[in-house]
Amino acid sequence: NHLKKYFPIEKGFLRRVVGHVRAVDDVSLYIHEGEAFGLVGESGSGKTTLGRCIVRAISPSEGEIWFRLPDGRRVNLAQMDRRELRAVRRYMHMIFQDPYSSLNPRMTVRDIIAEPLRYNHLGTEQEINERVKELIQLVGLEVQHLKRYPHAFSGGQRQRIGIARSLAINPRLIVCDEAVSALDVSIQAQILNLLLDLQEQFKLTYLFIAHDLSVVKHISHRIGVMYVGKLVEMAETHELFTNPRHPYTEALLSAVPKTDPDLKTERIILAGEVANPANPPSGCYFHPRCRYARDICREETPSWDEVSPGHFVSCHLARELNLQGTTG
Ligand code: SF4
Repeated sequence: NHLKKYFPIEKGFLRRVVGHVRAVDDVSLYIHEGEAFGLVGESGSGKTTLGRCIVRAISPSEGEIWFRLPDGRRVNLAQMDRRELRAVRRYMHMIFQDPYSSLNPRMTVRDIIAEPLRYNHLGTEQEINERVKELIQLVGLEVQHLKRYPHAFSGGQRQRIGIARSLAINPRLIVCDEAVSALDVSIQAQILNLLLDLQEQFKLTYLFIAHDLSVVKHISHRIGVMYVGKLVEMAETHELFTNPRHPYTEALLSAVPKTDPDLKTERIILAGEVANPANPPSGCYFHPRCRYARDICREETPSWDEVSPGHFVSCHLARELNLQGTTG
């Protein structure tokens, strides 16, 4: 709810604060229990910072993060201190883009997967060993792999190990940050399918962060689009693809490869650079690159409106423009 994360820009010996990078700038969204929510945008759009705020890997500057615990209580993670967070952190986990750098190269796979169980004191050593064996098989690897080290595995296998580790403590929410971006396309599909299977089996909730809309489409029930720290559009996946209401979403969609070769859509090339989050433009942050921009776009910040049930957009012309979607 109205989440902000501003990083100070410091200058000189005395580290005087001369400005702020608005990495996340007043973002409000909801994720239903058991759904996969995709978050897309170019690099630097703030999606990773938003994901890290949501699991409280970093503290937001302002705003609320409401999270429902398994016992039904709703807690505001943004207000919690370190001790309170420790008690709820086991219900959320983050999977990163580079599985190699997120797995300790000096630990065996057994210890990597067991670590969150030990940290949270979840069982005796024997119970933890049994659980680790169960987890490694759940992600399609074998028990013999447990005594090996991360360097002995391919990128896809390492991501499977990361997923096994994330499942160890029965989380409710898993934030996948570009979790398949570094993998070959065929391996990407295997990992996405594994995530989908696990979601069904364990009723997991995903926040799936990626720059590639086609990857997000495969896994997400709903999608949010970010631009320079702001959420500019949010809708159910099919609705967003077929009926985009924000010109930035339209441009992203035009770059998605089509499965139907007869489908002719214009590829929209965005002019100019992504705006600087330390010094964003006036009005709508997207206006210097928007082919539909009018005077009002340069002068006034667009509001966040629900243009049809569950479809939210931040654009002055959202109800006027007839934008090009895709079905392919
Ligand atoms: Fe483009 Fe104006 Fe909409 Fe911004 S508010 S996306 S500049 S049409």
